[in-house]
Amino acid sequence: MFDMTSSPSQLVDLNFAVPLRTAAVSASADSIESVALPVGQQMDDETFKQCHAATIVVIDDERATTDVIQRTLQRSGFTNVNVFNDPHRAISFINENALDVVLLDLHIPQLEGISVLKYLRTRSETQYLPVIILTSSDDEDSRLEALAAGANEYLTKPVGSAELVQRIKNALRFKQYADGIEDQIKSVEKELRVDALTGVNNRRYFDEYYSTKVVSHTDALLSLILFDIDNFKQANDNFGHQHGDDVLKFVAQLAATIATEQDFVARIGGDEFAIVCEHNDPDWPTSLARELKSRVAHESVLLNDSRHETTISVGIATLNKRVDDKGSLFNAADAALYQSKRQGRNLINVYSDAGAVSIGDKHLTQIPKLEDAETRIKNPRDGHILIVDDEPAISQMIELQLRKSGYENILVENDSTQAVEKIASLQPDLVILDIRMPKINGLEILRLVKDNPATENIQVLIMTSTTDDRIRVASLKLRANDFLTKPTNTIELDVRVSNALKLKIQHDQLVAFSDRLTQEVKGRTAELFATRRETILCLARAAEIRDMETGNHVIRVGHYAAVVAKQMGMDPDFVGYIELAAQLHDVGKLSIPDSILHKPAGLTVDERAVIETHCEEADRIFFGKAQNMEKATITSPLLRMAARIASTHHERWDGSGYPNKLAGENIPLEGRITAIADVFDALNTERPYKKAIEPSVCFEMITAQRGKHFDPQVVDAFLAAKDLILATRQQWLDASANSDTDTN
Ligand code: GH3
Ligand code: MG
Repeated sequence: MFDMTSSPSQLVDLNFAVPLRTAAVSASADSIESVALPVGQQMDDETFKQCHAATIVVIDDERATTDVIQRTLQRSGFTNVNVFNDPHRAISFINENALDVVLLDLHIPQLEGISVLKYLRTRSETQYLPVIILTSSDDEDSRLEALAAGANEYLTKPVGSAELVQRIKNALRFKQYADGIEDQIKSVEKELRVDALTGVNNRRYFDEYYSTKVVSHTDALLSLILFDIDNFKQANDNFGHQHGDDVLKFVAQLAATIATEQDFVARIGGDEFAIVCEHNDPDWPTSLARELKSRVAHESVLLNDSRHETTISVGIATLNKRVDDKGSLFNAADAALYQSKRQGRNLINVYSDAGAVSIGDKHLTQIPKLEDAETRIKNPRDGHILIVDDEPAISQMIELQLRKSGYENILVENDSTQAVEKIASLQPDLVILDIRMPKINGLEILRLVKDNPATENIQVLIMTSTTDDRIRVASLKLRANDFLTKPTNTIELDVRVSNALKLKIQHDQLVAFSDRLTQEVKGRTAELFATRRETILCLARAAEIRDMETGNHVIRVGHYAAVVAKQMGMDPDFVGYIELAAQLHDVGKLSIPDSILHKPAGLTVDERAVIETHCEEADRIFFGKAQNMEKATITSPLLRMAARIASTHHERWDGSGYPNKLAGENIPLEGRITAIADVFDALNTERPYKKAIEPSVCFEMITAQRGKHFDPQVVDAFLAAKDLILATRQQWLDASANSDTDTN
């Protein structure tokens, strides 16, 4: 490495007779030393390297002088020494390059050195650039004038080469220090301007920037976009503050990514942001907002892990004759934002010239939910129209014609390859579709749109020429809704678009109506099922209470019967019915006199015969067979099954049961199933006159009656479903029962 300390300490022969001396640069030299000290007296290797690469400019009209200086500096290791004998060329160089130090002669015929110095001090880039005056005039006035103009050093020729090199090194050290301070100032300034959480500009800087922009903006349009995260508090409350912070960062960074250099993005409140746009393109703010709104909704899915949806509401206003100062511009954008919130969020509103807020964007980023359909549009003029045509001139013309007719929500897609996706994501009410387009033609787009259940109901108008008969037929087969003939006539266009949108409104209303109806029917059916279940249980409990039974006997019998029916492979309807119908097995006991039903002592043969009539009595209850009762016709399959169970659950497989001594399959299946369910529950439930038998013994007792009291197949199913039976028993145990009963 080049050793700076070994630079030759000889006098540079500058052809001047003046003895070597340096000017008393008292004030500036002192300050140089004092600011240079923190950097260190000894430069480290890295600093040396930077020092040698420093861009040095030497300006002196004498070629001999510049030659000597250049040689001296190069010998000392400086590699980037630029000498100029013409100060004008030097200035051009200075204007185009970043410099580290300037050596400047004062007396130059073409342009005085002092003027060059003053010029350097007026430019922000060279305001603090070290300038060393190297001159033959050592008079006090020149020196003072140069120092006053901002020279850092004042040396008179001839100057020893070692001193010159040292002076340059000092100047470079000063430069390094000044640059460091400048960087620090920049970073402090940045910190003062940036929102620490999101990295975009903060409210303070927004106020400053926005106020200045409104006052100083030129010919370009100045718009303010305000946007606010929808239901952010909820996300914060449900998923934590940290997640809320992540959402804020995500939204801010997305805005910063989409914004161009002319857009100024700032966080101006908790979850509220602003973008100041200065653009020549009047559509820029809306297209920026559209992209932002759509990307927030789509891309936040990943961030949110699909746990919730992040959307934004947007308001836009542009400075004009009516909205003409910063307050009214802010209020206008804020009113538009408020409108977006009020209309249901995830919307963009643009404040219109007339002072009213107009619906500028109602495009939904997702397929609308059915319940939204009814509330979407009520007037054809509010319909959302997407024009798909690869020729911008044609799409623009149609858009213009539509706007003239009063349609406001119009979007254009000139890239046919994007059309299908756009239609699915925007869900317009109407698509005006060109046929002849590159890559994917209109017919293919039509087919894809109409084949997709999410888009099939969107109205599609096909643009054709009158001679395209084959295309018209093909379009109709693909379910195109209507045609527009090219070139389009404004009145015809309006009529066809309006008709198509009216149809769409009717369709949306029908969908909403039928959805509401379906919901209502579902609700009513559920209600009906609940009522039926509760009515049956009430009736069953009435019988139970008369029988002095307590607890959940009827519920358990119902569940056991259902478990067995399922085990036997019966269909779900049968299983569902038997669960309820079996609860009514003893409903006939309602007709048995209290004196017999509640008799504490043993029953006589006659009394037992009366008790046994409860099976026939059930028929009276279900079918009104008593003389004084109107005969009822029962149509409900559930109640018909309940009636069969009530009258046959005491019949036995071997024909020894009652009331009709039916045997085998003459006993309805539901009766055979309920017989086991009822007996099993009676056996292992404690009654005033008997103790509960352990379930394991009950299973044995039931098995012993296989083919006698009980249907063998039903017994097999009952035993096969033993675990489920025990679990059901456990679930519906009476409060007084011992839940620890041995179940083996
Ligand atoms: P709306 O759709 O009407 O805008 O409702 P919202 O819930 O988004 O609006 P609201 O103004 O009620 O809630 C804003 C919330 O933002 C309240 C506050 O707790 C939260 N918030 C403000 N600053 C921060 C922050 O720096 N980090 C987090 N995580 N939450 C913040
Ligand atoms: Mg909010």
